Amino acid sequence: MRGIEGRVAVVTGGASGIGAATCRRLAEEGARVAVVDIDMAGAERVAHETGGRPYRCDVADVDQVRATVGAVERELGAVDLLVNNAGTDEFGFLVETRPEQWDRVLAINLRGVIACTHAVLAGMQERRFGRIVNVASEAGRVGSRGSSVYSAAKAGVIGFTKAVAREGARYGVTCNAVAPGPIETPLLMAAPEHLGERGRKLIETMVGSTALRRIGRPEEVAGAIVFLLSDDASYITGETLGVSGGLGMV
Ligand code: NAD
Repeated sequence: MRGIEGRVAVVTGGASGIGAATCRRLAEEGARVAVVDIDMAGAERVAHETGGRPYRCDVADVDQVRATVGAVERELGAVDLLVNNAGTDEFGFLVETRPEQWDRVLAINLRGVIACTHAVLAGMQERRFGRIVNVASEAGRVGSRGSSVYSAAKAGVIGFTKAVAREGARYGVTCNAVAPGPIETPLLMAAPEHLGERGRKLIETMVGSTALRRIGRPEEVAGAIVFLLSDDASYITGETLGVSGGLGMV
């Protein structure tokens, strides 16, 4: 893909699943990758594999985010590409959830995206170049049972993506999102841990709602993310690309 070679890329949640697949794909395309995660052992593994650098950071903590972006800039160079991928869900039907769970899910999935974008955007605007891809979810467009707060956070990410696209456009910064459907990663596979049999059924229903009738692989999302980061997507901004086997088509 054009325009990735030599770029400095930050991937949050890079230690596992979609983030790790994105780090691998970016490295294959010649980017220098900062693997950012709360799971330092996982980040070290992926960094070792990809020739990147691991950074321990909780995206819900603004001070840690600022310090991490500062360290990346000193060690790898100015950030050209940002993938806001770190995310979590504490599956539960709304009536069974507690306010602390809402705060955690919103802090990581929505506030974390805002914090990381805020930390890199001024520099991108100054340098007149930047590409941001936010990992939202089809849950943010069609809503997902057992994930109401997560769905709200992901809908927020989609709105935020459009606003940043408008603000960044005059400075050469694009901002897009991907909306994955059910992807085989530890995040989705934890649903039965939280909800037992109902969690297993939820996954079955999601997979059954895809036109392709199968679960997706992290690499299939990584390909779409790296495309949106590349020069092949230079005229695309503010979009949310479904990577969901047709689950969200209208
Ligand atoms: P995953 O659990 O494999 O990876 C998530 C990574 O994020 C982990 O390495 C985890 O340690 C990290 N992380 C969690 N909280 C963090 C924090 N506070 N700070 C920094 N890192 C943190 O899950 P995944 O499925 O690869 O998820 C990646 C993204 O894809 C998430 O935003 C998720 O919401 C989104 N998504 C996943 C699916 C799916 O079906 N798997 C569907 C739609 C969207």
